[in-house]
Amino acid sequence: SPSPSVRDRAHCNVGTIGHVDHGKTTLTAAITKIQSKKGLAEFLSYEQIDRAPEEKARGITINACHIGYATNERTYAHTDCPGHADYIKNMISGASQMDGAILVVAATDGQMPQTREHLLLAKQVGIQRIIVFINKADLVDEEVLELVEIEMREMLTDFGFDGVNSPVICGSALLALREDNESPFGVKAIEELLKQCDSYIPTPQRDIVAPFILPIDNAFTVPGRGTVVVGTIKRGTIVRNSDADLLGFNQNLKTSVSDIQIFRKSVPQALAGENVGALLRGIKISAVERGMLLCATGSEDISNHFEGSMYLLSRSEGGRVKPMLSKYIQQLFSMTWNVPARIDIVPSEAMLMPGEHGQVRVTLLRKMVMTPGQAFTIRENGATVATGMITQRLP
Ligand code: GDP
Ligand code: MG
Repeated sequence: SPSPSVRDRAHCNVGTIGHVDHGKTTLTAAITKIQSKKGLAEFLSYEQIDRAPEEKARGITINACHIGYATNERTYAHTDCPGHADYIKNMISGASQMDGAILVVAATDGQMPQTREHLLLAKQVGIQRIIVFINKADLVDEEVLELVEIEMREMLTDFGFDGVNSPVICGSALLALREDNESPFGVKAIEELLKQCDSYIPTPQRDIVAPFILPIDNAFTVPGRGTVVVGTIKRGTIVRNSDADLLGFNQNLKTSVSDIQIFRKSVPQALAGENVGALLRGIKISAVERGMLLCATGSEDISNHFEGSMYLLSRSEGGRVKPMLSKYIQQLFSMTWNVPARIDIVPSEAMLMPGEHGQVRVTLLRKMVMTPGQAFTIRENGATVATGMITQRLP
């Protein structure tokens, strides 16, 4: 991982996606090799990356390798998965949310089924920026590279990405891994790729700058003062006396934060990551419920209806034996709350077999805040049977 001196740089999450054997892991190894020469990474061999540790996230097993490296501009956390199914679970469960993705396509094959599926999934989970790395350029003629580039730009446009302006780099991960400085496809291509990552994938809005959200864990009354809600600020900065909305369970209450306490001491403001008590003006304790959200006024809204991507756990992952059909009703869990929900598969006559994923419509029995990228799970009798991610709030 990068040395401490670069930890104050802006941070960005990326990953390699694309069809099996197109060179994702080789490219990831090459990036760490080249950055390690500059003291900006620890070299990880192909074998070290591919022997990805198992992650047990919400009842599903994902094999994913998270690799750290830096450029002169930013630090990166890079995800590479060994198998197609791992990508699907990783992206849908939000196990590592990518700010942008490097789509690897072998020039020898062009786009393949998993190239399309990963791109569709990237769109569904809200990844906006794609950089194309046309790999194995050492094996084909110039004209083939040009044709693959045209094909990839058209495909990006078809899937709703910016096919015209997305960077496309031709290279050879294998030559780069061998530290080839002669060929334009070797080290030079990796340097170009990282340059494009720095400039084309925007730094995610810094947590402390965004409008604040505070998921509520607990609430109590301070006699003579009022209601205090307790939780860990997930995003943004709460400043004393700022206006706020208290949202969830059908309620949208206007309030303001008249005091903020950290470890029972009053502070003028508190930042993302801090555990706080917030004294709310004009709110009765009976109106507050664990799972509600306190947020900057007007920054979020409640709804019954959402769209998302969902993965149905297979039987070996502790999931269902039977397929899931539309009009499925179960308890939905997200952040600190759970409410009954109805799941409809899109299109509604479709069904999901255990181990499959698809688009779903979520109808919550009570209006809650769910933002794009927010993860949820569905449980039956205490066992997780599905994991998903919200892509859109519907009116
Ligand atoms: P992944 O499944 O997408 O992670 O692909 P791998 O990185 O495992 O690569 C699949 C195969 O393609 C391996 O045998 C690599 O050595 C080979 N490979 C990867 N990149 C290149 C390249 O640029 N040129 C050539 N000739 N072979 C490559
Ligand atoms: Mg691989």
